Amino acid sequence: MAPALTPAQKKELRQIAQSIVENGKGVLAADESTGTIGKRLSSIGVENNEDNRRDYRELLFTLSKDSNIGSSLGGCILFEETLFQSASDGTPMVKLLQDHGIVPGIKVDKGVQPLPGTNGETVTQGIDGLQDRCKKYKAAGAQFAKWRAVIKIGDDIPSELSIQENAVTLARYATICQQEGLVPIVEPEVLCDGTHTLARCQEVTEKVLAAVYKACNDHHLYLEGSLLKPNMVTPGMQCPDQATPEQVAEATVVTLQRTVPAAVVGITFLSGGQSEENATLNLNAINQYQDPGRKPWKLSFSYGRALQASVLKAWQGKKENVAAAQKELQKRAYANHMACLGQYGGDVTGASGKESLFVANHTY
Ligand code: 13P
Repeated sequence: MAPALTPAQKKELRQIAQSIVENGKGVLAADESTGTIGKRLSSIGVENNEDNRRDYRELLFTLSKDSNIGSSLGGCILFEETLFQSASDGTPMVKLLQDHGIVPGIKVDKGVQPLPGTNGETVTQGIDGLQDRCKKYKAAGAQFAKWRAVIKIGDDIPSELSIQENAVTLARYATICQQEGLVPIVEPEVLCDGTHTLARCQEVTEKVLAAVYKACNDHHLYLEGSLLKPNMVTPGMQCPDQATPEQVAEATVVTLQRTVPAAVVGITFLSGGQSEENATLNLNAINQYQDPGRKPWKLSFSYGRALQASVLKAWQGKKENVAAAQKELQKRAYANHMACLGQYGGDVTGASGKESLFVANHTY
């Protein structure tokens, strides 16, 4: 049987994956689709047009050298528009990231579509033409990719159909990316909408991750050149019985130990509607958690809302607030860097802080 990748391709993928999560680094998810960034901008009264989207992303990518942002962030995921965009002075956005030593990545999925005959479940679109798009993205400087699958918890869901369809599509996406030299971030997000308990979230997340890695194996994914982006295991947002960071850590680590192969380089959690502070405290507890069993992967972050809520609040679309907004990103990224090392003291405050960032039935 022909191997899927040459030794040189494997080596490149391994090195990219490792560089994104080494030394307590994580990922900034700045890949909101045009519709989703529109909702973020409208929350601060800023119109959703190309100039404003560019100004906002430029703010995120132009922290000063002294900010040391490249010690906290190993990668940044971009939406296609941003990958090919230049800052207001003409510098390509990709170059701004590279100058900080941050690896550029690209969201390659095309959002979710309903799975007919199910109770509101979905599958992610974007496989057609993906290999050609990956070639273009790699040539433009992207080194890794993201694809988000969405799983919902309810009385009679997730269905086996939705788990299988999403697992197979993730595996197919991931192997196509590797063919073109992009490290796939495999993102099966179990949504936190609902009244379900911590135990129910664990049960579903285990089932989903087990199906994802079975499909990845069937599709010959090179695990050593891949990253996983799961939800943390938490009770539903509307569950009356909320969990402490220690409880979230135990349920999350046990789930991962049971389902994620040790060959996977790193696990970069999504924030999923947690407040900035909770997302950091939970990540810290996950990295502090020792017993039982081992944690063979880097346990890091790939946050969208939990890295940007304070930034947006501080910015308000005004030039004179850019420096203050950049300071918020620096603080939050550093707090999560410390959490990756299990050394966050709960001592970094921000403009958004403990505010819930939950969005019902979240789309990206
Ligand atoms: P949140 O951290 O806001 O959940 O988003 C991360 C992400 O990239 C979802 O695909």
